[in-house]
Amino acid sequence: MTSGYDIVIVGAGHGGAQAAIALRQQKFEGSIAIIGEEPELPYERPPLSKEYLAKEKSFERILIRPADFWRDRAVTMRLGERVVAVDPQAHELQCADGQSVRYGTLIWAAGGHPRRMPGVGPLAGLHHVRTRADVDQLEAELGATDRIVVIGGGYIGLEAAAVLTKFGKSITVLEAQDRVLARVAGEPLSRFFEAEHRRHGVDVRLGVSIERIEARDGRVTGVRLASGEMLAAEMIIVGIGIVPAVEPLLAAGAAGGNGVTVDAQCRTSLPDIFAIGDCAAHANGFADGAVMRVESVQNATDQAALVAKTIMGQALSYDAVPWFWSNQYDIKLQTVGLSVGHDETVVRGDPATGHFSVVYLKQGRVVALDCVNMTKDYVQGRALITLRIALDPEALARSDIPLMELAAAAAP
Ligand code: FAD
Repeated sequence: MTSGYDIVIVGAGHGGAQAAIALRQQKFEGSIAIIGEEPELPYERPPLSKEYLAKEKSFERILIRPADFWRDRAVTMRLGERVVAVDPQAHELQCADGQSVRYGTLIWAAGGHPRRMPGVGPLAGLHHVRTRADVDQLEAELGATDRIVVIGGGYIGLEAAAVLTKFGKSITVLEAQDRVLARVAGEPLSRFFEAEHRRHGVDVRLGVSIERIEARDGRVTGVRLASGEMLAAEMIIVGIGIVPAVEPLLAAGAAGGNGVTVDAQCRTSLPDIFAIGDCAAHANGFADGAVMRVESVQNATDQAALVAKTIMGQALSYDAVPWFWSNQYDIKLQTVGLSVGHDETVVRGDPATGHFSVVYLKQGRVVALDCVNMTKDYVQGRALITLRIALDPEALARSDIPLMELAAAAAP
């Protein structure tokens, strides 16, 4: 059976939901359908490793909008459907169940799927944290779990570890690099989080090579390290990044590789097809134009808004300031800018107090800040990054001087 819509959005996540919301806000009156492979209405993903995992928020409280919002705005939700092929010439999609869907404009907002441990198939006790279903499955097994190994010291692994220690579980975090958060943050922040996790009883192991996942009768029994050591565990959580969900677009001839390549309006190389969010490789002005995928709610939301405005005829280019957050224990980390390619870091304040910021500089200019329980620095640092201001590192280290004051003194 074939159906058709003026705009089809693939992916009912942050970017997909926000694109539909923004289109209706922009007074787009044509038909809109969102096709999503998860069975749920769009929900916020960050709480999956935070409040939802901690059982502090119900699923209803993390919905991006309630069901009647979508009905009232005539957004057709086609949930539990997976798109497997795109025919850009015919402007038609194929779903896994054999249905075809025609589109006028396609917005690809399919995010990514968790990267799996190479050569390891599904096993009881082996989990990822990407979807509500992942977390529900994990929680269903927690009662029979004492020991958990988390593979990967990135934000998701660390956040999950922080929540699960509260449940009294014994947690080991295994990180292949010589520090946690190595891909996204500077050394002072990594060392701070390592110390915090150890203080809460987490066994953080760095520079670790994994030999294999051990299992018996289809259930994990632990992780064997290259050193020969066996870490027994009833549960293993793998947090080693995502693989962007772009196969149907690449198979249809879209430019890309690690994600699908988009221009400053989030257009792919295929006609009438945009891509946004985790799967969209774009030239980011806050990283001197380096082509990258940015995995954050901010990026998905801002790219969605940009595409809606572009469809409605506005001439804009993507230049939203990147920001991100992470909550672990009582630590509120707020990040602004992109630290990629920085050549200097300055620490403002004393990490031992639990209140400090790491400022990243590139050729003297402030390019990013990681603010730990320092909302003031986060808010004021945003202006430094937007204005691409050069500041003296010694002055920056003076946490008693507000960043705005430094910026005002440096302004031409
Ligand atoms: P998603 O929200 O992942 O949505 C994509 C949707 O498309 C999914 O539902 C997927 O199933 C669906 N899909 C994929 N392929 C197909 C297909 N072929 N057909 C149909 N549907 C398909 N960001 C922050 O800024 N701060 C945080 O604190 C933070 N914490 C996070 C914690 C966790 C546990 C996770 C998983 C992510 C977190 N993120 C955080 C990242 C943030 O959630 C993502 O950057 C954001 O969800 C990206 O939005 P998106 O629309 O690109 O993709």
